[in-house]
Amino acid sequence: MSIKLGIIGGGQLAWMMADAARKLGVELIVQTPSQNDPAVSIAQDSIFAPVDDAAATELLATKCDIITFENEFVNLGALSLLEKQGVCFRPQLAALAPLLDKYEQRCYLRDLGLPVPQFLALSAEKKLESQIENLGFPVVLKARRHGYDGQGTFIIPDFTTLAKTVNQNHAQFLVEEFVPFTKELAIIAARSVNGEIVIYPAVETIQKEQVCRWVIAPAIITKEQSSEIVAIAHKLLNSLQYVGVFGIELFLTADGNILINEIAPRTHNSGHFSLDACETSQFEQHLRAVCGLPLTKAALHCSSAVMVNLLGYESSDCDYQKQRQQLAAIPQATVHWYGKTESRPGRKLGHITVLLEADNGKGVKDIIHEIESIWYPLAKVCQNFPK
Ligand code: ADP
Repeated sequence: MSIKLGIIGGGQLAWMMADAARKLGVELIVQTPSQNDPAVSIAQDSIFAPVDDAAATELLATKCDIITFENEFVNLGALSLLEKQGVCFRPQLAALAPLLDKYEQRCYLRDLGLPVPQFLALSAEKKLESQIENLGFPVVLKARRHGYDGQGTFIIPDFTTLAKTVNQNHAQFLVEEFVPFTKELAIIAARSVNGEIVIYPAVETIQKEQVCRWVIAPAIITKEQSSEIVAIAHKLLNSLQYVGVFGIELFLTADGNILINEIAPRTHNSGHFSLDACETSQFEQHLRAVCGLPLTKAALHCSSAVMVNLLGYESSDCDYQKQRQQLAAIPQATVHWYGKTESRPGRKLGHITVLLEADNGKGVKDIIHEIESIWYPLAKVCQNFPK
């Protein structure tokens, strides 16, 4: 008998579970706000409601055996009543609870003895100057909740901008030191119901305006750095008793230190390369973990890979057929198009992964430039590739 899996959220992360679900005999039922959301087309059934609508999740629970998340912006308090009544959430809600507020997440990581940037929660009761006096500018201001793709994250150069940004946004904020990183890294880690752990190769991620633009797998880092990242992932997964896949974003500093930026308790953009470049994708691994199946190998089956996000650059209802065909003609490329009906600047519309072999002549930089030149209008093509 097939497992019926409820997914809170019906965006591209749920959509990318389709092939693995079919392979594993898992039926997907999504809770998502709109009929136009990507995963509606691949789900056996859908409930159209916002992800934080716990009454809709109660209905979802009647239709499935297990509920998982592709979007963590849920109402944990309300869901915990359902969990008490026997609804099976994986990861379980206690594993999500310390992660949903960026300040609480930082405290959790720090209390575990893991390396994080210097941070504090801004209090409306205290004078702003006195709260940040130990940090020095620039600082990074982050909305504690509901931030994603750089929304709610501000790099702040001076006090005037800080005061203005805090006043203009009615949110609770975390403020932290600006880390002058040499690389941003990420890792996808999975833990099964039995506590078995599988970790994907660490990747380098490159963001522009706080949004992920490219991912290079594997990251060029030392063995020690790689082992340190793996140890961080183990400690976190075990301490949370986490079941499923999560992404960890990290900074590498000039003196070789690793700091954790954030944990995303779900499949993650930095792991999309795994669909085409690894023995098992992060999406299959997540389904395996939450459905109580054994995990399988995460290793790369090529020497390296590059993933480029296809970000919206205009407001349009175009489906970009011509560009997609040109992209698909790149050797060793696979285009994943999420089928969104509207494009907006910055919106993730799809991604492309290109597998590289040591001898195929083209470097990562050339491939990224080729992809961007096909996808973006000239003015939006990134001209200065980081070292
Ligand atoms: P989101 O949750 O919206 O993705 P992040 O906290 O991951 O926000 O921040 C987005 C990007 O902003 C990061 O990938 C990084 O490039 C930059 N950033 C975030 N925090 C810092 C920091 N403390 N120092 C330097 N850059 C940062």
